[in-house]
Amino acid sequence: MRHAFLTDAQIDARALAHRRGLGFSDDEAVDVTTLLARLKARYPELSYECLPDGELAEAEAQWDSQGKRLLMSEAVFQAANRGEGRALMTVAHEVGHALLGHEGNLNRGPAGSRAERVSAKLRSMEYQARRYAAAFLIPDTPAVRQLDASALSQRYRVSMSAAIVRHSELRSGESARALSLRQAMLDL
Ligand SMILES: [Zn+2]
Repeated sequence: MRHAFLTDAQIDARALAHRRGLGFSDDEAVDVTTLLARLKARYPELSYECLPDGELAEAEAQWDSQGKRLLMSEAVFQAANRGEGRALMTVAHEVGHALLGHEGNLNRGPAGSRAERVSAKLRSMEYQARRYAAAFLIPDTPAVRQLDASALSQRYRVSMSAAIVRHSELRSGESARALSLRQAMLDL
């Protein structure tokens, strides 16, 4: 399958559809145990495994498209279970690779890693998975757009820094929508 270019709005829309398809209501936080159980039920071809720490080398989690396996280190799973926002984001990132149909062995690594610098395709997949993870955990809906970053962090159990980024993404989506609405009215 060819890697598809998706706009931010398309990534947000897919994440929202997947989130709803997995039975999470728009105003509820995703918890990792429920997420993994529902993924398995809804997408029986996918499996997930927790590996002893260190077995994924540097990576905390990985999507293996060939084996259709979502791998995560024991430490990440435990941390996500305890409600640590960053670990939850890591799991959601790999779910993004899986449900967006990305191919390869994709790790969650820092933005701008060496591998990303050399491959535009990889850079694009990593960008999509990062955006997807935030959009999966914090859905783009009119009601959610009204919340400030600290309300987002509290309700959706993500780190404050992730909530700030997501808040500004939702804001810029809002102004883009307002702009195209204004444009549409001018065109009448
Ligand atoms: Zn990734």
